[in-house]
Amino acid sequence: MTDHLTDRIAQIRSALTAGERISTDTCGWLFQHAPDEALRDLATLVRSRFHPPDQATYLVMGIVNYTNVCVARCDYCAFYRFPGAPDTYLLTEDQVADRIAGILSLGGSMVSFNGGFHPELRILDYTHLFQSLRARFPQSIAYYEMTVAEFMFICKRTGISYADGARQFRDSGTEWISGGGAEVLSDSFRLRHSPGKYKVEDFYAAQAAVLDAGLGSTATMVIGFDETLDERLQHLDRLRRFQDERRQPGVDGHLASFLCWTYKPWNTDLGGAEVSTREYLRWLAICRIHLDNFEHIRTSVLTRNDDAMLGLRYGADDFDLPTEDEVTQKAGATISHEFEQILDSARSLGFRPVHRAPLPVRAP
Ligand code: SF4
Repeated sequence: MTDHLTDRIAQIRSALTAGERISTDTCGWLFQHAPDEALRDLATLVRSRFHPPDQATYLVMGIVNYTNVCVARCDYCAFYRFPGAPDTYLLTEDQVADRIAGILSLGGSMVSFNGGFHPELRILDYTHLFQSLRARFPQSIAYYEMTVAEFMFICKRTGISYADGARQFRDSGTEWISGGGAEVLSDSFRLRHSPGKYKVEDFYAAQAAVLDAGLGSTATMVIGFDETLDERLQHLDRLRRFQDERRQPGVDGHLASFLCWTYKPWNTDLGGAEVSTREYLRWLAICRIHLDNFEHIRTSVLTRNDDAMLGLRYGADDFDLPTEDEVTQKAGATISHEFEQILDSARSLGFRPVHRAPLPVRAP
């Protein structure tokens, strides 16, 4: 390292040790210039504000893809089928219940629903389905009942505001949605790859409505498309400001966790190559350093398999062991149910994986 590089990293380290916030520009500089070892060290420093150094938490989660019908046409998606295509599907309630039973049999305690933008479904189709499923299964399971992106589409198709939609879901028993469908929250990225999905500020308006209604939600990001560093930084910058707004006195509810995973390029119109583990880990470290108002940074077993455990050294503190997810599997993800092997990878890196309950909706 040059003297200049060493000095600047030492200054950043001092600022982090003092609990200071690192600017978005500085995070961009770190990503471009800091050696891996320095990123690991700085991310671990921020991680230690929230968690014991050797602790990592996890749960087993399955993703139920209840329909592949979608009108959004994102060019990075290998999963969706446009209405009328021969291989579309919409699972029945019994089929969804079978999938949940399969997840439970693998030790799952969380079920996440993620489907396409199905133009025929309205909010009552969802609330009835979820009410029925909750009645069929024990209360020990938590559900992410949809992604923010699906929530937005459901509200639009039903002709109701996000506030009304969030209240209707809450009143019917929904506790959580997930921050899925965010990919890269930059309008230039969205325009290139999924112009029909939403605009960035609309996404945050939906997140705010969900939290205002008393539901829980999370934050996500996907890297490895063709996004620029500036677009990635826009994502982090807006997200941190949103979380700041949500943590103001008198504002009820903030995002519970942040998960970053990587784009799988197989069978998509966009194509391309997968980002390396090294790039993923470096970016994960930047996320941990930047998102100082998030307690939990999650590493992605779904897209990085055992290598995801290295993310614990780059600032992550939590992960899920996935049982299934057709969306990423269609694009090339491979899922292993050898959970002990993954946990052993964490142990071999010096971490103590602790099975945790699903987070409470209102995290302190
Ligand atoms: S990523 Fe989601 S919204 Fe986009 S095409 Fe695929 S299923 Fe539809």
